[in-house]
Amino acid sequence: MSAELRLPYLQGYAPELLAQVRGLIASGRLAQTVAKRHSETHEVRTERALYDYVNELKSRHMRSAPPLSKVAYDAKLHIVKNALGTHSAVSRVQGSKLKAKREIRIASVFKEAPADFLRMIVVHELAHLKERDHDKAFYALCQHMAPDYHQLEFDLRLWLTARELVASTDVTNVT
Ligand SMILES: [Zn+2]
Repeated sequence: MSAELRLPYLQGYAPELLAQVRGLIASGRLAQTVAKRHSETHEVRTERALYDYVNELKSRHMRSAPPLSKVAYDAKLHIVKNALGTHSAVSRVQGSKLKAKREIRIASVFKEAPADFLRMIVVHELAHLKERDHDKAFYALCQHMAPDYHQLEFDLRLWLTARELVASTDVTNVT
């Protein structure tokens, strides 16, 4: 069964790594493995709290970037397509338009996520204020703000995978 299991949140990662993940899933230890590494929760549940949180990180690392007009949790954001992208560049609005907007939208799922993952996604979105694409310069900026960025993004993808597995199990178990 595990060999057939698709891992949509982990596209682009090395086959050896995916084999390890499938092993964790098969033994039912994926969720607890992630939870162990990222046990700290957060209280950033309202838009006001999110605004403060984002601006605190912004003033620490990206003081020169222009102010944000809006910071919001967005329940309609599809996290892989819109928030994280795959490992290729996402097409985005052209320069001037993007500049004019300067909003940060965070998928609502992060309200319930470990503190590390909220920090990771905010760092990701802040980096987009300067770098449009998911290229070297972009990830360098992410790592400047969060030295453990790559590990965090991978673990976030594991967390999302584990969450979805639980959700699909719940559905099958309804009798
Ligand atoms: Zn992105």
